[in-house]
Amino acid sequence: MKGTLLVKNVKHLVTCDSDDRVLDNVNVFVQDGAVAYIGQEEKTAEDVIDASHMVMYPGLINTHHHLYQTFSRNLPQVQNMELFPWLKTLYEIWKNVDEDITYYSSLTGMGELLKTGCTTCLDHHYVFPKGHEHGILEAQFAAADTLGMRFHATRGSMDLSKKDGGLPPDSVVQTVDEILADCEDAVAKFHDSSKYSMHQVALAPCSPFSVTGELLKESAKLARRLHVRLHTHLAETIDEENFTLSNFHMRPLEYMESLGWTGPDVWYAHGIHFTDEELAYLAKTQTGVAHCPISNMKLSSGIAKIPQMLDLGVPVGLAVDGSASNDGSNLLEEMRVAYLLHRLKSSQGAPKGYDILKMATRGSAKLLGREELGCIAPGMAADFFLVDLNRIELIGAQFDVKSMLCTVGLKGSVDYTVANGKIVVKKGRLTGIDEDMTIEKANTLVRNYIRQ
Ligand SMILES: [Zn+2]
Repeated sequence: MKGTLLVKNVKHLVTCDSDDRVLDNVNVFVQDGAVAYIGQEEKTAEDVIDASHMVMYPGLINTHHHLYQTFSRNLPQVQNMELFPWLKTLYEIWKNVDEDITYYSSLTGMGELLKTGCTTCLDHHYVFPKGHEHGILEAQFAAADTLGMRFHATRGSMDLSKKDGGLPPDSVVQTVDEILADCEDAVAKFHDSSKYSMHQVALAPCSPFSVTGELLKESAKLARRLHVRLHTHLAETIDEENFTLSNFHMRPLEYMESLGWTGPDVWYAHGIHFTDEELAYLAKTQTGVAHCPISNMKLSSGIAKIPQMLDLGVPVGLAVDGSASNDGSNLLEEMRVAYLLHRLKSSQGAPKGYDILKMATRGSAKLLGREELGCIAPGMAADFFLVDLNRIELIGAQFDVKSMLCTVGLKGSVDYTVANGKIVVKKGRLTGIDEDMTIEKANTLVRNYIRQ
């Protein structure tokens, strides 16, 4: 039958369901992009994967990224900088982003994500140089469709340039009216709110120090009118805290709250420098946090209070953040780093390996408002990945497959990734593109872009 897939005899199925079940030696039948059956029956399907040596996990969900930064990684001149000088230096490169750079950097970052088990990616794009305001999101959705990835774009924005006390150059900021009109267009053109949707859009002004209070307030009103979610960077650095204290006499969260930016439809990237009272307020309002440990370590920003957030019930998901501060797009690596970082900081109070897996699946799905993602069960979207256990590096490491990806870690690509019921990674290679041709084309583009 067309549109069907049978994953046969799965050795261990880590469901991440509410009962934390691991099922052994089961068949998983997929139809029309959703899981239709899990059990012993062996149904006939168009495609079949023999998973008798494999463990299956729900597709990972990335809740914050800047895919365009994939083309400005590992630049020597910014390697020792912290956030504000790092941003000011890199904006001089990023102001030249166009549709081609966006398409191929998205293909690169999304390709790496798919090869490492991520099936849904949210991207926070906020650099819209003049003349390229309308083609950039289109290029991102085209890249996602080529690869078969479930994609959430954001219509990011900046209206506070250097001359007004912000960080970005004048050529990449817009007026509030222009931004709101473009946001409304992007939602009308790309946002699909249906179950199993492959395309969604959120509104995402860049950060409190690159946008005005007016833009934040109007974006929140518009998002609620259009029934889309709200996202931005918050509580990432002490520099940001000093900025809101000196300009608005408020701490960052208090400032955002005053502009309508708390609630279950809002999530912040980073969330490092919250006080205990602020964490309790996040829990009360169900405002979420996208945890980005590698970026936070690389930019010396600090360690988010993840154990306290989980104890209090703050919604927490995982994210790789922009490639320029990571410098990769690998959620498996992010999971292992998150696990180790909090072990170091909090010892027995740290999340366990399986808790981090749930953060990257169920937790991330909650931030994006996707109840049908993040766990493997009949009726859920058919998003998952498979790891062959017959690898040298996993011998002697299979006693707890729920935690294995964090405690031991998986180096290299997964064997299969399935998104929306389709095989998008097969034997470690992307099925949607010719990887060799893409590498050649993308490398040529990077050289010209960085030389500008
Ligand atoms: Zn970011």
